[in-house]
Amino acid sequence: MSSELQLIHSKILECTKCELHKSRTKAVPGEGPRDARIMFVGEGPGQNEDEQGRPFVGAAGKFLTELLESIGLKRSDVFITNIVKCRPPNNRAPRKSEIEACNTYLQSQIRLINPRIVCALGTPAITTLMGEEYSASRHHGKSLTKGEVTIIPMYHPAAALYDASLKETIFHDFQLLKQMLENTETLNPSTPKSSEPSGSKQTLEKWA
Ligand code: URA
Ligand code: SF4
Repeated sequence: MSSELQLIHSKILECTKCELHKSRTKAVPGEGPRDARIMFVGEGPGQNEDEQGRPFVGAAGKFLTELLESIGLKRSDVFITNIVKCRPPNNRAPRKSEIEACNTYLQSQIRLINPRIVCALGTPAITTLMGEEYSASRHHGKSLTKGEVTIIPMYHPAAALYDASLKETIFHDFQLLKQMLENTETLNPSTPKSSEPSGSKQTLEKWA
């Protein structure tokens, strides 16, 4: 399984399935433990991410790290990726065709990592995972399901960073996320995710 994830990441690094490959510096597959309990899905790489080939390393990433710490998690505890793996020029919104072209990678990552919770950050990630009728303003902090996957929509950290009321909302939603995570642990205490020795954790950082 890990080699399958590795294979997907190497495919992303040389992918030419949509126009975004032409202007990227580095593709950004995502990073985190292959057995992560939570996965975060953002919109797409920005300038810093495009330069470094790593997700959420700019201002929004710093805020995401702060949000994680507020519920006792480290960045290295979670898997972080985006709906498109290459930076849209001038940070424009990714187009529907680009999101669709890239979606097989995201779906494979979800299938292979099999997290307890997928946290969709911002409306583009929410509609990609849940459908057009969903949005951050209407569904943030709610626990939804799509097939076998539990999806929790959130505001995008970049949106919340400079808006005091959204900032308060997203901190609150992270507290809900913490509770939901604790609930899934008590409901499934003996499933492989929680019984796996922590020493077997390996990260994908080196492929990101
Ligand atoms: N914003 C995103 O949506 N994704 C990143 O990786 C960085 C900023
Ligand atoms: Fe391929 Fe996705 Fe990059 Fe488009 S955005 S070139 S589909 S990896």
